[in-house]
Amino acid sequence: MSVRFEMLARDGAARRGRLVTAHGDVETPVFMPLGTAGTVKAMTPEGVAATGARIVLGNTYHLMLRPGAERIAALGGLHRFMNWPHAILTDSGGFQVMSLASRRTIAEAGVTFRSHLDGSLYELTPERSIAIQHLLGADITMALDECTPYPSPHEAVEGSMELSMRWAERSHRAFVERPGHGIFGIVQGGVHPDLRLRSAAKLIDIGFDGYAVGGLAIGEGQETTFAVLDATVPALPEDRPRYLMGVGKPADLVGAVMRGIDMFDCVLPTRSGRTAQAFTRGGVVNLRNARHADDPAPLDPECPCPACAGYSRAYLHHLSRAGEILGSMLLTMHNLQYYADLMSAMRSAIEAGSFAAFAAAFETAA
Ligand SMILES: [Zn+2]
Repeated sequence: MSVRFEMLARDGAARRGRLVTAHGDVETPVFMPLGTAGTVKAMTPEGVAATGARIVLGNTYHLMLRPGAERIAALGGLHRFMNWPHAILTDSGGFQVMSLASRRTIAEAGVTFRSHLDGSLYELTPERSIAIQHLLGADITMALDECTPYPSPHEAVEGSMELSMRWAERSHRAFVERPGHGIFGIVQGGVHPDLRLRSAAKLIDIGFDGYAVGGLAIGEGQETTFAVLDATVPALPEDRPRYLMGVGKPADLVGAVMRGIDMFDCVLPTRSGRTAQAFTRGGVVNLRNARHADDPAPLDPECPCPACAGYSRAYLHHLSRAGEILGSMLLTMHNLQYYADLMSAMRSAIEAGSFAAFAAAFETAA
């Protein structure tokens, strides 16, 4: 039995579900913090779990370069290596090869590239990506895809999507079935509904445990992202989880859940935490701003996180101005708590059948 998806409630197109993995249950809709290089930056695993998170994302690209997938496997797998007992989803490495590696060459077999760390040469094929994710011990493995730059002409997007679909087939074939573990395919096709639908049909034909929508949040804008979801999501199987990759801002999450998405990841809450930006119920707050220097109030009085419970805006402002590590830690803690609470509020609203009202109120407040 691979990763199981239980549907608990529906409200319009929004879904309240549960992913049952080898490392525990994950309530959906869910936001997955980025555990890029085997760590959610500026957080202890205990702190991540304290926000309510039960799944994090690991990056194949970073981990294959350093410390190496075989080394992590020999040390007991990624869960033990990073002391995270809950679920892990790993990406395929494709996106970061495209965005970080130098001198990459894409061919039918796969992609060759040079490490951004020391320039050494690597090859990432669908088979190698799946093998790495197996060595890491990912509960959810992602198929290798090519990420088409935006904007690209229809013809280029089509060729890229078709290559990704051939890689999806090879990824699926290379995946070793284990109880509680699954593999997701990734719908590509840029902003073109015809290509998205062809991609979805091909993946469904192969038969994945879940379906991701990839290639978005790369500059196309929220309206276009939602238009792609409107065209794509209805074509995906009802009984499988749907994952929107790399998105996004709080309002993006609400709009995507309304369109039937179950899973998200994004660098925003963690990266913003390291640049003094906080997501709050009153909107985005930049703590570098001088107006916080004398403010004894908490960052977000409704937030239960340690940063809001014990510290003032003035102190957080001071830490960020002074470049203190604790500033990054507290704000990352807060931002992950904000995202976790937002997802939890959406789950409750779906259960109560009041998601449309929740979304409308959220839009007004934002
Ligand atoms: Zn907080």
